[in-house]
Amino acid sequence: MAEHVKRWRVDGSKAVHLHDVDTRSRDGAPGGKHHTRAATEPLVERLAEMQNRLWAEQQRSLLLVLQAMDAGGKDGTIRKVFTGVNPQGVRVASFKAPTTHELAHDFLWRIHREVPGRGEIGVFNRSHYEDVLIVRVEELVPEPVWQGRYAHIRHFEDLLADAGTTVVKVFLHISKDEQAERFQARLDTPEKRWKFSAADLDVRAKWDRYQEAYEDAINETATERNPWYVVPADRKWYRDWAILQILLGTLEDMDPQYPDEEEGLDQVVID
Ligand code: ATP
Ligand code: MG
Repeated sequence: MAEHVKRWRVDGSKAVHLHDVDTRSRDGAPGGKHHTRAATEPLVERLAEMQNRLWAEQQRSLLLVLQAMDAGGKDGTIRKVFTGVNPQGVRVASFKAPTTHELAHDFLWRIHREVPGRGEIGVFNRSHYEDVLIVRVEELVPEPVWQGRYAHIRHFEDLLADAGTTVVKVFLHISKDEQAERFQARLDTPEKRWKFSAADLDVRAKWDRYQEAYEDAINETATERNPWYVVPADRKWYRDWAILQILLGTLEDMDPQYPDEEEGLDQVVID
């Protein structure tokens, strides 16, 4: 894996402390906003090419799990990073508060069905991690229940890895000040107001408890095989560039191959 991707990687070898990660970091970026945006364009194209190879190979899949505080940029990331990609090979699943039907099953039931199949890239906009985040902070289940979920998550992600799905978990790390600015922008812009919900403020009021829950979730489930990436996300141009680096680094390591062509194609002439 390329060296610059390692700066965001958490693989369980040492604990991450979110407080020590600079959310405004521009570490490793090729330049400022203008230069980095320009350097991001070819990466978007490269992602399309790699996805094409993954699709042609039809053997393995890639799952990007996106987690962030509200206004952390999950939607913007998906829009930007996957613009160039063939929609046939990408599937986005968004996980909201579970329905009664979903709650009648184990917490991974609704998640497992959305895992990408061979050849696909899957994107989770929120995920099974909500079950150790909001569920923990809002005390929706007793502590032993959410504590037990870390092991279930590790085993579930190992199962996916065994079945050919590479899981890339990304935490878009924004500061509380940045969230305030983005909320304010939502309130001040008529086209963005629909994104704001007064309930978001209740979650914001518990900022520190959410950060603690995120930190524990990351440290409990980051492994060499299924690592987390903590991406400084106050600067959107840095965030997009970083995530493309992570996805491309992962896909290049996977190195999907075009299948062998049929024999004798050299002799075929179309008339
Ligand atoms: P936006 O950033 O655009 O607001 P969103 O992902 O926050 O998008 P919402 O519909 O606003 O979408 O919120 C979905 C809500 O569902 C979040 O508050 C999230 O924490 C909650 N949620 C997701 N999974 C679970 C779960 N397993 N249990 C309880 N709540 C959950
Ligand atoms: Mg929301």
